[in-house]
Amino acid sequence: MKDTEEIIENSELEQEIVDEGIKQTEEISELEENIDIDENSEEETEVEIVEEKQDIRELIKSFQPLDYFDFVNLHIHSKYSDGKADFEDIIRQAKELGYHKIAICDHNTVEGHKYFQDDVLIPAVEFDCWCGYVFMHLLAYGIDVNNPVLDEFMAKSKKETEADIVRIWARRDVKKLINAIHEAGGIAVLAHPACCWAINLDKFVGKLVSYGLDGIEVHYPYRRHRAIIRFSTLRQIKDVAKKYNLIVTGGTDCHTRNIMAY
Ligand SMILES: [Zn+2]
Ligand SMILES: [Zn+2]
Repeated sequence: MKDTEEIIENSELEQEIVDEGIKQTEEISELEENIDIDENSEEETEVEIVEEKQDIRELIKSFQPLDYFDFVNLHIHSKYSDGKADFEDIIRQAKELGYHKIAICDHNTVEGHKYFQDDVLIPAVEFDCWCGYVFMHLLAYGIDVNNPVLDEFMAKSKKETEADIVRIWARRDVKKLINAIHEAGGIAVLAHPACCWAINLDKFVGKLVSYGLDGIEVHYPYRRHRAIIRFSTLRQIKDVAKKYNLIVTGGTDCHTRNIMAY
């Protein structure tokens, strides 16, 4: 009897082992299925990123006012112009701080973007240019940084990326510049409009729109940003953006080592 019991016990044990085996196999295949799903979703994410790159307009339009400046900052300067932070260090900080997107817009140069690319980074530049007698800053986003037409407008020396006194002499024509930005696949955005020496902002922006202006920087630190001279209020700028159906952007115009400070 003992033997028989042992045999039965053993066979039950074997059955348990077999059952356990089947269970484990099922679990493994379930795991594999999950892995498959993960792989698929990873592929989908990659596709989304590619699509984002293809349509800079839609990407920027998707940002909400409150995204600026904690998750999105579309106006940062690096050492490639007159900023204090290393280009790659800005990218590192943005990733560590969990930014969704940033744009490094050095004055009249895209050199940094030729060396460093990242999912968090939008290729950008800030040009000094003239609209008639008005000196202004024009931001370009989503540009092909190797475009030869746009390359004509880039700084020819390091000084042209730094000193205000040198930069103000650069005679870039805004109309030609906007065309070049479009040629390079980007969008043209009027930077910190409250600083523009335009008596009538509406008229001034209207002129730029007729040249193809796509957007206007609305969310930026007005008080800290050249607070002494301010030609327009935030309300006026918001109204103008709405009137001309412009893409609204924002950024801190940060020149410091820490991208959270401005
Ligand atoms: Zn500027
Ligand atoms: Zn700037």
